[in-house]
Amino acid sequence: MIHVFGHKVPDTDATCSAIAYAYLLRQTGKDAKAFRLGELNKETKLVLERFGIEEPPLLENAAGKDVWLMDHNEFEQSADGIEEANIVGVIDHHKIKFSYGKPITYIALPWGSSSTIVAKLFEIYGVEIPKEIAGCLLSAILSDTVIFKSPTTTDVDKEIAEKLAKIAGVEDIKAWGIEMFKAKSSIAEKSAREIVLNDYKVYEFDGKKFLINQVEVIDDSEVLQRKEEILEEMKRIKEEQGLFAVLTMVTDIMKEGTTLLVVADDYEPIEKAFSKKVEGGAIWLPGVMSRKKQIVPPLEKVFQ
Ligand code: MG
Ligand code: MG
Ligand code: MG
Repeated sequence: MIHVFGHKVPDTDATCSAIAYAYLLRQTGKDAKAFRLGELNKETKLVLERFGIEEPPLLENAAGKDVWLMDHNEFEQSADGIEEANIVGVIDHHKIKFSYGKPITYIALPWGSSSTIVAKLFEIYGVEIPKEIAGCLLSAILSDTVIFKSPTTTDVDKEIAEKLAKIAGVEDIKAWGIEMFKAKSSIAEKSAREIVLNDYKVYEFDGKKFLINQVEVIDDSEVLQRKEEILEEMKRIKEEQGLFAVLTMVTDIMKEGTTLLVVADDYEPIEKAFSKKVEGGAIWLPGVMSRKKQIVPPLEKVFQ
């Protein structure tokens, strides 16, 4: 059986692309099942609830299993035991940091979500998309493209989202998107630690480890009034995990910009990457919505 799963700290795209692709594999005669690599966030739970889909089971370890990686390709972001797994394929929309000892199926397109690619594959295989899966894929596109506001959005994402919305019976795409983001951004009852580890990925630039987290909110004031507490927690996590830096992107999807909270051994390379000084532990970055397109590349460049 092929175990299909997205990255650790699962988001809606990682989860829905896995659910949909496992279904497509089964329709094409393969034995496949979707899994998750961690606790689902509130947004993803809302999506699965709305469209009546069960949560995929947790995969503890991938060693010795046939696996299909969705929405990621870096082993650091993948399942424990991935080095001893048999990778059958990858479907992803991130930068490629992958090499493997034998030929496999690797589908990468620079589209707004992995779910957009999966929806396209249904078309290519001539498999009808069930209503609930269409709803799941649509929601993942809205999540990853921040309701089409992120610079990662392509025309294909919009076009496919329209089609999926019709199948899923979602009349007002934007209204649904905002409802999803509200679910995700209700942080009032979250601890500072939960905020910092909300949606994070760990990167290595020239041997220096960065934990980069993103919180997407409708109104950033709720998070920013807890800035000092959050910075303290970031410092703690940096020490605990022996990191070079912990960054928290507080992305306001209405203002269309990000307040980047920064804790680092050395601020200079980070200030250089964004051509701005860190003031009070933060840098305001107007127009910045995407970690992979607007935060990771400038950092990578500075450390090259
Ligand atoms: Mg993802
Ligand atoms: Mg994605
Ligand atoms: Mg995201």
